[in-house]
Order: sequence, then C-alpha cells, then structure tokens
Amino acid sequence: MMEFSDLYKNEDFDSWSREIAQKTPSKREFDQILSRSPRDMGLDDLSVLLSPAADMYLEDMAYRSRELTRQRFGRTVQLYAPLYLSNHCRSTCTYCGFSVGNQIHRLTLTSDQALQEAELVYEQGIRHILLLTGEDYKKTPISYLQEIVKKLSQNFRSINIEVYPLGMEDYIQLRREGLNGIAVYQETYNPKRYQQVHLGGVKKQIFYRLNCPDRAGKAKIRQIAIGALLGLADPPTEVLFTAFHARYLIQNYWQSEISISLPRLRPAEGYKQPPMISDRDYARFFFALRIFLPEVGLVLSTRESSFLRDHLAQICITQMSAGSKTEPGGYSGEESGQQFEIIDTRTVSEIAEALRQIDLDPVMVDGNPDTLSTPIESSLETSKSP
Ligand code: SF4
Repeated sequence: MMEFSDLYKNEDFDSWSREIAQKTPSKREFDQILSRSPRDMGLDDLSVLLSPAADMYLEDMAYRSRELTRQRFGRTVQLYAPLYLSNHCRSTCTYCGFSVGNQIHRLTLTSDQALQEAELVYEQGIRHILLLTGEDYKKTPISYLQEIVKKLSQNFRSINIEVYPLGMEDYIQLRREGLNGIAVYQETYNPKRYQQVHLGGVKKQIFYRLNCPDRAGKAKIRQIAIGALLGLADPPTEVLFTAFHARYLIQNYWQSEISISLPRLRPAEGYKQPPMISDRDYARFFFALRIFLPEVGLVLSTRESSFLRDHLAQICITQMSAGSKTEPGGYSGEESGQQFEIIDTRTVSEIAEALRQIDLDPVMVDGNPDTLSTPIESSLETSKSP
C-alpha cells in the first residue's frame, strides 16, 4: 500500500525552493489564485502564496484566510496544555534541549507523578491534553503510555501524544485505551538537512518518521498533527511540503482530522542562535496554508508571543497551547531540563479572557460534559491502589 514517502521521493526540495524564490505574480494572477476553489489549487498555486513576492498582497491573503476560517471553524479556538512525561532521549538532534548529549537534569515521571501533573492542568480548566516524551523507547515504553492514557481518559476530553514514532499496532492499542490523536513533526522535509541535524538514534531514520502519520491513519487515530520546525531549511519550501503531506493524508485517511503546526526554532540547551524568520513571513505561511487547506486545524504554541498569537487567532489559528510548561514536572515546580524557552507565559484564564476580548470563543471543555463527570482524584486513587 502506498505511503507518503512514495510521493515525497518524486519531489525535489531544492528545485521547489528555487521555484518559490523566483515567483513574481501580477495582482491579476494573484487574485485569480485567491478566487480559485481550494480543491482546484495545485502546489504551483501554493508556491505563489508562499513566495516572498506574495508579501505585497498580505492583506488580501489575511482577508481570504479569515473568511475560510470562519466558514469552517466559526470563532472557536481550542485550548490545550502540554504535559511532558519525560525528557530522556536517545536521539541526537542538534537543535533540541533534550538531545542525548546535553547535560540537563533528566526526569521521567512515574504514572502517579503524571496524574498529579495532570490534575494541576485539569484545575486550570483544560480538558485537552498533549502528552510528550523524548525518544527513549525503554524509559517510556508503550506500556507506560498505555497506562497513563487509560487513566487520564476518564477525565480529559481528548488525550493526544507527541512521543516517538510507533507502529500501527501500537497506535491501535493506544486508541483502545482512549488515545485521541498524535503529533509527529517531520522537523525538516529537506533530506540533506535532515541528515545534518539528526545525528543519532531512531530519529535518524527519515522514512520511518515520514510514514508515521500513515501508520496512525491506518490505525484510525482521530487527530493527526504534522509540521515542520521552521529554521532548519528554506521556510516556504518546508511549508509547501507540509501542505503536500497534509493533503495526501486528508485524501487517504478520511477518519482522521489533520492539523498543522509550524514551530519556529527557539533557543535551547546547546542551541543558542536560531535563524530569524520575520513575523510577517510567518503570518504569510499560515494564511497560505488556510487558503490551500481550509479544513486543516492550524496550531500555534507558546513559543510565540501573546501579541502574535492573539492576532493570528483572529485570522486562521484554531488550536493554541496555554499555560505551558516544557519540562517534566513543570506544573508541580519540579526542577528538570526544559525542551525550549516559551514566550507566551500567560495563564490559561488570561489567554481565554484575551481571546474573548477579541470576540473569539476559547474552548477548553467541549463535547458531552457527562464524559467528564469522574473527579480526577478518583484516577489518582486508582493509580495508588496496589
Ligand atoms: S527533537 Fe525529539 S528526538 Fe530529537 S533530541 Fe529532542 S526529544 Fe529527542
């Protein structure tokens, strides 16, 4: 059966970078693209929207992007919180604070500690939680993830994971325990750059990672988030490949909702000077994605400023993290190494209020409230039983 790598191998990253850089659309050509149905758009149209030349039409892009977002998502912005379970990692990624060679305080939460952290998240009103680990298949094995997903599923409306890539059978097992979604970012779609920044560990296996969303799709995981870490290679080309990947997933796995995140590189332990990507360029990338793929969720994390987050939420963002800690035990005040520095340090209630002030509807609890009736303390008690 086909996997995304079969299509990916036919596209050349550097050729697309040159193509995007050379675009010089007239206003008439640009308007024709904006008026086209997203279904009729090809990668060539997207390359125009992503090109530096599109900057002069940024207002038009923002207008169209907001229109499509309102049609599909209304005014809702879902808030979720990350919960770091572990910062142990056996992979070497040159840009990440958890990279195996970094001298940071390593910690893997016990399942009791994880539930206590989750309780602190729950108390802030959050019911959508993202569990994260590094890539250490032994310290945080699948059985560990299953146990935590199962316990948290009693209280949280959705539980997603951003851990190491897994096999289809593992995803099926986790779905049965209550897993709602996965996030697996390719980091860079430039194959040469991928090898330069991923020096060791399972992460080095580019195609195993690239086809991970396929395995999740085959396992009928409800939400699949993909993305690129902007700053590792040519940013507009990364966004083009991410959109190409997302469209493939939409066409092949109808049971799954697809979302995209575009984290910009941030300083981390051992990585102090990420390349600069302007807010204006960054906004254009999101607008282009919304115009090309009106149905995808667009995610923005606390890596970005409150100013930018609030502005983009009015145009195209549909999911935001809130009140985030990026180290294991961070909500309880445990000392351990964080993955990256966050910028938007507002509390969950401050973020929710800021969104209401701009006439958006922050969603922390949705779906059937009956499914949330079990107090989280019961899970804690359950976990403490012999
Ligand atoms: S990016 Fe992921 S795999 Fe790489 S060092 Fe960080 S946690 Fe480990």
